[in-house]
Amino acid sequence: MRVRVLGCHGAELGECGTSGFLINRSVLVDAGTVCSALTIAEQRKIRYVLVSHIHMDHIKSLPLLSENLIENGVPQSIVIVSLKKVIDELKRHVFNDRLWPDFTKIPTPTHPLFRLEAIDEGTAIQLDDLRVRAFAVNHTVPCAGFLIRDRRGSLLYSGDTYRTDHLWKAAAATPDLKAAMIETSFPNALKGLAAQTKHLTPALLADEFAKLGRPNLPVYVYHVKPRYRAAIRRELGKLPVTNLTILEDGATFQV
Ligand SMILES: [Zn+2]
Ligand SMILES: [Zn+2]
Repeated sequence: MRVRVLGCHGAELGECGTSGFLINRSVLVDAGTVCSALTIAEQRKIRYVLVSHIHMDHIKSLPLLSENLIENGVPQSIVIVSLKKVIDELKRHVFNDRLWPDFTKIPTPTHPLFRLEAIDEGTAIQLDDLRVRAFAVNHTVPCAGFLIRDRRGSLLYSGDTYRTDHLWKAAAATPDLKAAMIETSFPNALKGLAAQTKHLTPALLADEFAKLGRPNLPVYVYHVKPRYRAAIRRELGKLPVTNLTILEDGATFQV
């Protein structure tokens, strides 16, 4: 699969956009940055959005996407997929006709722009040529990590998380795992803040990654807070993780 980085940071600053990734042509993983990085023609090809959780830096392009795509009729709804707890929070706090018009009912409740689909932890769902499983991770609100598979292999996406277990266990039991996208938000000196806000530091990333038992697996780091980029980069460079890349907005990589 081809992963295009629309934005990969944990905050917005200057050129740094928040987390949004396009897999192949039709599947988004999180929607922090979408509309400013894709043409209208590319936005029209989106069929699915995997949403890890409802924090603003992961969903803020959804309302804006609706503005770009809404017509009198929609040929096909965009399906927003996550664990039930995340979908419930989306209904309650985002698609609620308060923050923004409820595009799960517009233009019509039977053919809306967005359709919400809750999946059970660990149960695979087919999204075009991808098979996706979601696992609860340890964040301040309900949050999902994903295992995304195509015929060439599987990719792990950590979601926003502190120390966690289910996702690593499932990933360790995935023989065709080819790469892991793992969040890292704060430098080691801010481990207290990382624990409070439930994010990883470089030292915590190394601990969590070790749970996979595959030291040579390619790791793509995302969700770096732009203010701490230099310190995080330095600390990641010293980790005993052999195949680590810090993602940049606009990059693409192949899994
Ligand atoms: Zn975030
Ligand atoms: Zn978050």
